[in-house]
Amino acid sequence: MSETERGGVPELVSEAAESDAADALRGLRERFVLDEVVYLDGNSLGALPAEVPARVEDVVRRQWGELRIRSWEESGWWTAPERIGDRIAPLVGAARGQIVVGDSTSVNVFKALVAAVRMAGEGRDEILVDATTFPTDGYIAESAARMTGRALRPVAPADVPDAVGDRTAAVLLNHVDYRTGRLHDLPALTAAVHAAGAYAVWDLCHSAGALPVGLDEHGVDLAVGCTYKYLNGGPGAPAYLYVRAELQDRFDSPLPGWNSHAEPFGMRAGYEPVAGARRGRVGTPDILSMLALEAALEVWDGVSVEAVRAKSLAMTDFFLRCVGAYVPQGRVVSLTPAAHAERGSQVALRCDDAGDVMKRLIERGVVGDFRHPDVLRFGFTPLYVGFADVERAARVLGEVVR
Ligand SMILES: *Cc1c(COP(=O)(O)O)cnc(C)c1O
Repeated sequence: MSETERGGVPELVSEAAESDAADALRGLRERFVLDEVVYLDGNSLGALPAEVPARVEDVVRRQWGELRIRSWEESGWWTAPERIGDRIAPLVGAARGQIVVGDSTSVNVFKALVAAVRMAGEGRDEILVDATTFPTDGYIAESAARMTGRALRPVAPADVPDAVGDRTAAVLLNHVDYRTGRLHDLPALTAAVHAAGAYAVWDLCHSAGALPVGLDEHGVDLAVGCTYKYLNGGPGAPAYLYVRAELQDRFDSPLPGWNSHAEPFGMRAGYEPVAGARRGRVGTPDILSMLALEAALEVWDGVSVEAVRAKSLAMTDFFLRCVGAYVPQGRVVSLTPAAHAERGSQVALRCDDAGDVMKRLIERGVVGDFRHPDVLRFGFTPLYVGFADVERAARVLGEVVR
């Protein structure tokens, strides 16, 4: 028995081994730079894909160092935002030509929400925002509402169908709650927003790369997401903006930079927006981060999001069972919904002294994170986490809280 299996419940240890042996995604772990640590923080910063360092080296030394300005054309720098957007598109259920990569999620929330309010027109004087949103979306929504002269109303996602009405211009929602891991019903909520004649803006930070999103299928209007969580793009990697094809002509960006001009090198005084997804661009793209992201996305070649979702649910189920077996009754309480249809790819456990518990977990080689005031958060990234990791994490948690 190896060190990591010592003290485990034999049935759980062998179940983990069987699940790992049967896991069709198991080979992908080798495509990441990882060590003995059980890394359950990929919902905050995805692990480093092995192909990234050499690509970044090439981008810096050859593309920048040798080709210099020629790389805008010859190395495809200028078109990287759309090209990489098309690479992300299948992961979120979008056809090509609707996603551009660039700027942060926060900035893209601003673009998307203001553009949605402008599409809705003058008669609609309120914006609904997810009352449980990741804070930055809420701050940006407050400012967007002030700038556009709309009232901002926080609403729990489940209450959106009752709250949305003919005064509503746009609704900004998180697909998965960053704290609890609750998955909101994107198809039903989008349909409710549309039934009221309003626009739906979704933040996919905690769902893209973890579960099927179906942007086109469900008629989402605008969406944003980051690339450094489940997409493993690296710290501060650029985010993306999705604008549904039929709305692109009406996308009136509040940040109309020269990169979204119809003729960027015409250097004209007046702004005239380009057609298509490029309308979401602003200024010069962050090439080093963007091309690191492009290399990181190669691990997704041939990987189905459905398979990722199936493994994610199996892992979160198994983790909850292992926690039940290893952690004294009542010491932690799961905030993550039991129903698969309501669960993202993380488990959040409420726990007294969560900050201290997480510190000791990390010392013992199990990395999750702590969210104020009393939440232990464990993210399960199916590309590189296995069932033995899941069992070990729950076992070490049990030891730490005793
Ligand atoms: C991670 C996250 C963000 C992060 O925004 P940045 O601009 O990249 O800092 C925003 N919204 C949600 C829902 C997130 O989970």
